[in-house]
Amino acid sequence: MKIAIEELAGCSGCTIAVLDLHEAILDLVEAADIVYSPPVIMDVKEPPEDIDIAFVTGAVRNEENQERLKKIRKNSRVLVALGTCACYGGISGLSMISSREELFKTVYTAVDTVKEDGAIPHDVPGFLYRVFAVGDMVKIDYYIPGCPPPRRHG
Ligand code: SF4
Repeated sequence: MKIAIEELAGCSGCTIAVLDLHEAILDLVEAADIVYSPPVIMDVKEPPEDIDIAFVTGAVRNEENQERLKKIRKNSRVLVALGTCACYGGISGLSMISSREELFKTVYTAVDTVKEDGAIPHDVPGFLYRVFAVGDMVKIDYYIPGCPPPRRHG
């Protein structure tokens, strides 16, 4: 079985939660091959076309997120929304209380990311007019909420 994890607008905590399965991860890798999980588990740019189960973490904030979500849906038999950001918008959804200009100013003029010329970059993916949960854009087969999702539900 081929499984994949796609990360959109989030903090990577949901992918770390998968690694945090401790010894249970040995059962996982015996039952399945993780074929795609950038940037936390592997450095790979494009998802293969024959994924059995894909997990998507993070919300949809920009055009790149939207494009990658549509591609992972197309390439996967089963798509699972993993984590509260993917299921409902979550922490990423809080960005809707600030304007695009306020967000960019905060992120790109923070002390440790300021560029020498003080310029805010314009070559980043375009923001959508709002944050979307993944189910707003594509068909989702299963939802696993939690920030991050617990090892076991129930
Ligand atoms: S649900 Fe929580 S842990 Fe997962 S990406 Fe969002 S903020 Fe991070």
